Amino acid sequence: MTERLVLVTGAAGFLGSHLCDALLAQGDRVIGVDNLCTGTLENLSHLSNESRFSFEQTDIIYPFDPGHVDFVFNMASPASPVDYMRLGIETLLVGSAGTINTLEIAKKYGAGHLHASTSECYGDPLVHPQVESYWGNVNPIGPRSVYDEAKRFSEAAVAAYHRYHGVNTHLVRIFNTYGPRLQPNDGRVISNLMMQALRGEPLTIYGDGSQTRSFCYCSDLIDGILRLSRSDEHDPVNIGNPDEFTILECAREVLSVVGSRSELVFKPLPQDDPTRRRPNIARAQTLLGWSPTVTLRDGLERSLEYFTRCVAHENAHA
Ligand code: UDP
Repeated sequence: MTERLVLVTGAAGFLGSHLCDALLAQGDRVIGVDNLCTGTLENLSHLSNESRFSFEQTDIIYPFDPGHVDFVFNMASPASPVDYMRLGIETLLVGSAGTINTLEIAKKYGAGHLHASTSECYGDPLVHPQVESYWGNVNPIGPRSVYDEAKRFSEAAVAAYHRYHGVNTHLVRIFNTYGPRLQPNDGRVISNLMMQALRGEPLTIYGDGSQTRSFCYCSDLIDGILRLSRSDEHDPVNIGNPDEFTILECAREVLSVVGSRSELVFKPLPQDDPTRRRPNIARAQTLLGWSPTVTLRDGLERSLEYFTRCVAHENAHA
């Protein structure tokens, strides 16, 4: 097989950088682009001597042309609630103009295209677990709408480029994912709780902690994305771990993995915070032969060294 040239947008982010690693490991050449609004070059520093990888600081909301590529992975967007609410307009733009620009590249070069969509398309879901055929329950003007509606627009754009232009598109709906390279201060539940437990601070629980999430370890997620990119499937596919935890259960796992006795403190529940979330992964199982293999406990253990380094880094710069 000849070496493919692959474009990854959002390459300096949590999932984008893990995806670059996986593509390089399977023999592809990779062009990574990122505007670094939430990503960091530290996530790519281990690739500085990798001749099959190049990086360019590019904001994909403006049309750009990387030259001929065989495949485009569109991973670019602020993704944690704290980041996308801080960067609301940027999030709307990257999920609209940015997505169209990546689709234009795929169309121009006859390249495959995979777009990173999200379980947020389901909003605060009235169907549980969430199946891909569910259209969702999204507040179009609430604080999360800058992310949710941009991602929903992106799905419409991807479907249209497939329908009108025959682009070989793929849509993955990503559920909560965690692991090394999550920004330690992105405000997400796993990063917050791990950092708080390691610092010996109280763990912040929003609401009463009875809301649920289903957490997927990053290596499982990347495996699912790669399988989808090689498939003939154009409709959305959920990739996530169906093991569902309340936030209180998640906090207990974190305390146990860190070996911490931190207390829990309860804070107000953010507006429109989904009450439950769990993927139905039957389509991924049948179409891609994919199932997650890493339990929450196992994944938190694998993430411990990374978050321990983040806390040490903080202390060194205090
Ligand atoms: N959460 C929490 N404490 C925190 C951060 C988040 O209880 O320090 C809750 C949040 O209210 C939500 C869940 O954990 O119900 C997951 O939040 P996250 O920001 O990780 O992502 P979301 O799934 O909401 O996009």
